[in-house]
Amino acid sequence: MLHSLKKPDKIRALGVMALNGMFDEMDAKGVLRQALTDVLAGDVAIVSSFGADSAVLLHMVSEIDPSLPIYFLETGKHFPETLAYVETLKQRLGLTNIISLTPDPADLAQFDPGGTLWETDPDSCCHIRKTEPLEPALEKFGGWVTGRKRYQTAERGVLPHFELTSDDRIKVNPLAYWSDAEVIAYREAHQLPEHPLYAKGFKSIGCAPCTSAVGEGEDARAGRWRGLDKKECGIHFDFNGAIASPLAKTEHNLWKHDAFIADPFTPWADAYQPATARYTHVPLKTFIAHRAAFLANPHPLGLLVEAGDAIEDVESDLGRFASVAIAFPAFTDGRGYTTARLLTERFQYTGEIRAIGDVLQDQIPLMRRCGINAFVVTHGPTRHALEEGHLPEVALFYQPTGSTELPVGTRPFLRRPSPVKPETESA
Ligand code: SF4
Repeated sequence: MLHSLKKPDKIRALGVMALNGMFDEMDAKGVLRQALTDVLAGDVAIVSSFGADSAVLLHMVSEIDPSLPIYFLETGKHFPETLAYVETLKQRLGLTNIISLTPDPADLAQFDPGGTLWETDPDSCCHIRKTEPLEPALEKFGGWVTGRKRYQTAERGVLPHFELTSDDRIKVNPLAYWSDAEVIAYREAHQLPEHPLYAKGFKSIGCAPCTSAVGEGEDARAGRWRGLDKKECGIHFDFNGAIASPLAKTEHNLWKHDAFIADPFTPWADAYQPATARYTHVPLKTFIAHRAAFLANPHPLGLLVEAGDAIEDVESDLGRFASVAIAFPAFTDGRGYTTARLLTERFQYTGEIRAIGDVLQDQIPLMRRCGINAFVVTHGPTRHALEEGHLPEVALFYQPTGSTELPVGTRPFLRRPSPVKPETESA
């Protein structure tokens, strides 16, 4: 019997290319109307920063359907003027479905307890305050609308009306071809309220600590993360930060939630420092050798458990790690299964547990039974099986795992997963 898994929609990529061809000459409102009422009708959300020129897109949305869901990333770091502007536009445009997304308090407590992560690690700050809250909200939709424009930065200079993201969603950019002058003209023609900071030189407005006014001749977004080599907050990262291109997909190796997705973690390198490393799986022995420095490190980290490592040695520190990577050096090496079961059953670890190394199609169901919920897969046939939704089911096993599998049957060494118990019939 085969599990049915989500199959990537390759036709969608070609469809997005066709959409760009069909609607290339259409004006912004026409593109938006097509997206909201036809291409993605009932399956689309708006994401707005309520920044300097958000009023234009939101005005167009309000004229098509003011009840559409509009997500606002309430990072906890906005200017008070921006929070006031959310209310101003809501009232002026009659928007009835603005949804504020806030960071997970547990993430803030773990990674940004002092609220200063933006100073030392803005990528991680954006990740926990923007990307993480937005992802589950957008999971419900086949696409979302942004207000990005080509003129804003060189990186956005090739922005199309329709993009296909790496998770097969369609991102719609109705204002992609607009100039700064057109935004201003539209705002004036429709007498839309201006963001209170716009007149003070803030031409692109994000979180207060990371936004400054721009001078004459500067890019509109030059005041964002000024002085840093950072241009985007992360929610628009795709294909390693590039603007998404319909057919130029980067191959991702991390299989999670039934899809290959971008991996925020990179392998540990000797040059990394315990106090500053981030988004990497620290080898268990290295962690123990520099435990105090790693515990003082504010950035998201994972733990690498290699064959022969004892996970019990770091039991009290497991809460420090967002992910635990278990190495499977060979198909025949079963020590990783024991580590996974200790993590889930004895230590109640609830973060990501990923398998790395020799991860093959037949092992994945067994790994899942032990609590492994992510897989780094480079083996071609296994990748193909996952993409096509073909995984073998484990019908017989020798040892039950966790509390969900009870030994049944007459021979204790050959067991089956417990069937759902029938209701007891009353006599
Ligand atoms: S823009 Fe700055 S404060 Fe806001 S989430 Fe990103 S790094 Fe943090």
